[in-house]
Amino acid sequence: MLDVAKRRIILRNTTRAREETSGSQQRAGSDPPDVRQPLMKRLPGVLAVLLGAACAWHGHLARAFDRNWQDAGGAQPASARPPSARVVYTITIDEAMFRKFGLQYPVTYVFRLSEIPPEAQVRRRDGDDRPWMVLEKKTADQLFNGVPCVRFDRERNRAYVSVGFKTSDTIELEFLGVGSAAFESMAKYYDGRKAAYTLSNDNWGCNAWAHPGAPWRGPTNDESDNYQAALHVCRGFHLPLSIAINSRSAGGEPMWRIMQEELDRGDRSWEPAVHGQTHPKDAAAYRVRGYLEEILGCREDILKRLHNIPYGQYVFEHILTHGYQDETLQTTDAGEFLFLRGFNWLDNPSSNDYAPWNEKHCFYGIAGLNTKGYDALLERREPKGRYFARDVAELNAAFDKVYQSGGIFYALWHPDRFRNSVIHDPRPGVDGKQGSTLVQHLAHVANRKDVWYAANGWLYSYRYVAENARVAAQR
Ligand SMILES: [Zn+2]
Repeated sequence: MLDVAKRRIILRNTTRAREETSGSQQRAGSDPPDVRQPLMKRLPGVLAVLLGAACAWHGHLARAFDRNWQDAGGAQPASARPPSARVVYTITIDEAMFRKFGLQYPVTYVFRLSEIPPEAQVRRRDGDDRPWMVLEKKTADQLFNGVPCVRFDRERNRAYVSVGFKTSDTIELEFLGVGSAAFESMAKYYDGRKAAYTLSNDNWGCNAWAHPGAPWRGPTNDESDNYQAALHVCRGFHLPLSIAINSRSAGGEPMWRIMQEELDRGDRSWEPAVHGQTHPKDAAAYRVRGYLEEILGCREDILKRLHNIPYGQYVFEHILTHGYQDETLQTTDAGEFLFLRGFNWLDNPSSNDYAPWNEKHCFYGIAGLNTKGYDALLERREPKGRYFARDVAELNAAFDKVYQSGGIFYALWHPDRFRNSVIHDPRPGVDGKQGSTLVQHLAHVANRKDVWYAANGWLYSYRYVAENARVAAQR
């Protein structure tokens, strides 16, 4: 059974950690902190109650969405408006989930416009009457992910408006100079992309032999922290990465410092995710410290130790150690994460889409198994990960299949199973002699303008909003 009193302490601690960090974010000039946080501090038990209500609301909101769609599109015929009329829409999400997870990752709302002159603009403001801000315009020939913006598609008369929540559970959008604007849908993927690629690395801080917190000697030096090295390689390809953290195993103060430095770059290159305080493999191992300590305690460690976390001071994802799951684990996680990622060593070609919302436990998953088993393929060579053209072709074919069908490719590997000098070898490949299968594969996957690249938790922050936000025209 769960210790309810203990759980409340953890929730309360989480709230406090967020307050402290949002203060430092404000000093750094980032988004302003949540002005209503102190209320939650005074009412620690309220959060759990609100989350329960949010869960019940989910189905209701999904049904309401259809009605709102009709309101928004059907009630605003183009002929009813003069060409330059002001068009304003309101986007709303349930307050409890906004407070729990921020939901800052931009979600793409698709509008049908009657005309798109060069001076067309979209502005946004938060529902608490903050100033209007003009959204940056992006074009289809630019590489961008996870930024607020508008992309006008003049051939199809559409606007792809990408905005996230900031200080309020409501966003207002204003269209200027476009004639009419009818809300059509939330895009399945950010910016209406064709497919998605989501990447994670497991075990930062788990094993001493991966040198957690070691002085930086470059991504191909075997003495560098294997995880910092992997992060640098992924950053070079513009591939954001979820990293599963073991908060009380082999990593000490130097590891936390390195993690913070990598967050302080402010480039949204990685997402800290819960793995565990240690690395339990079954129910007996979980019982040593307890599920609460292992999982929510790890989240607490992350939120206390790390700040400047992309898209707010939250942890969205629990990556299951050894892929192990049971009912106590799911009850512990209920309403505490947006996504639970499972694991096995195999190829899982059918793992290529969003996981459905788990109504009982209020999270997405358990899902997100690796579409293709990178570890197993890379480990069949000696040294592990050495380049072979055939291996690169096999990985690329798996990605191409998902890309062509418009799916989500779930990728992961364990950097602690490889040597930096081999798996990050940037040299052109020569079978069995030089180069890296992984690096050549990532070069194939990365930097496509029609693919959405997002860390696991951001993918499901997007999904939650896309499934639950209400969009309505202001009259
Ligand atoms: Zn692990």
